[in-house]
Amino acid sequence: MNIFSYERASDANAAIALKKAGLTAKYLGGGTNLVDLMRETVEQPEVLIDVTQLPAEIEQRADGSLVIGAAARNTALAAHPAVRSDFPLLSRSILAGASAQIRNVATVGGNILQRTRCRYFYDNAARCNKRQRQAGCDALEGFNRHHAILGASEACVATHPSDMSVSLVALDAVVHLQGLAGTRSMPLRDLHRLPGEHPEIETELQPDELITAVEIPPLPFASHSTYRKVRDRASYAFALVSVAAALDLDAAGRVRDVRLALGGVAHKPWRAAKAEAALKGQPANTDSFRAAAEAELADAVGLRDNTFKIELAKRTIVAVLDELKGDNA
Ligand SMILES: Cc1cc2nc3c(=O)[nH]c(=O)nc-3n(C[C@H](O)[C@H](O)[C@H](O)COP(=O)(O)OP(=O)(O)OC[C@H]3O[C@@H](n4cnc5c(N)ncnc54)[C@H](O)[C@@H]3O)c2cc1C
Ligand code: SF4
Repeated sequence: MNIFSYERASDANAAIALKKAGLTAKYLGGGTNLVDLMRETVEQPEVLIDVTQLPAEIEQRADGSLVIGAAARNTALAAHPAVRSDFPLLSRSILAGASAQIRNVATVGGNILQRTRCRYFYDNAARCNKRQRQAGCDALEGFNRHHAILGASEACVATHPSDMSVSLVALDAVVHLQGLAGTRSMPLRDLHRLPGEHPEIETELQPDELITAVEIPPLPFASHSTYRKVRDRASYAFALVSVAAALDLDAAGRVRDVRLALGGVAHKPWRAAKAEAALKGQPANTDSFRAAAEAELADAVGLRDNTFKIELAKRTIVAVLDELKGDNA
């Protein structure tokens, strides 16, 4: 680990002002990912700017929308009564991640911006384009069971590891940002990038920008929602494939509206827009669910160790929609 200094910011303005100072600085949430990366010398900031004093409130507005301070702890968000009743997929996705101890410390901002778990990214002896531009990618010919099947490139096949972000993307969450140029907001689904030729650029954030809050618009049918994570161990393991879904059926049993997002399959939380389009207006049955899953995974490409994830993703989509159909009855 390199030598670094530590500063605690009292608010967003103070945090951004500290970034301005010219040193390589990183914002610090719970530190459960960043400090690991510093220990491995993958990240070597000269200054850590602790942003855990930023707002952590979780507030439900009269219209049903939810505003979550970026410093809210993962445990607090999963346990919030409005999240449990109105957005159960979000609560379930958080509880499917990490351990209770880590969730107690991890913040919402940090969870969204956690970095890939590709083992070659953590190993300084391996070639990794994300760590060092144009160095090569050892995952392409290496052990790639956990890697991407959608939206990958020759430069990088890593996946985004956050469970929580998959549900947030399904819910059309918006992130509120603040930086030297002022404040702005963007849909979370646009925040993370696909790797293309620049896997080292992971998000649309400017280097000084801070996530200050996350907002979830109202979605009444999200009370019929869930999150399913398929992994190698029942706990304490990252997703091979995960599905966040909410389903709304009309009186005739047709799909009036649906939200679907996938985790463990791409460099970003993957909104399953093709499957959603294929489902709308269709009878809610296994044939429609399977056709939608086929549409979403039509462009999927497997690597040596992970081709099974294509069929796994399809089956998980069908299983989750079947479960939610029962929930709507
Ligand atoms: C053993 C283990 C198992 C895990 N299993 C899972 C799992 O199954 N599923 C899962 O989803 N996660 C899992 N995690 C990851 C865990 O969820 C993340 O480490 C955690 O959510 C990160 O939050 P943090 O606040 O600690 O972030 P930090 O480590 O503090 O920061 C992470 C990144 O976010 C940046 N950052 C933090 N806050 C802000 C902000 N407000 N604005 C801008 N940038 C910011 C930091 O600069 C850093 O780059 C696991 C972690 C461990 C150690
Ligand atoms: S998949 Fe991406 S993160 Fe992993 S070694 Fe290749 S370039 Fe690095």
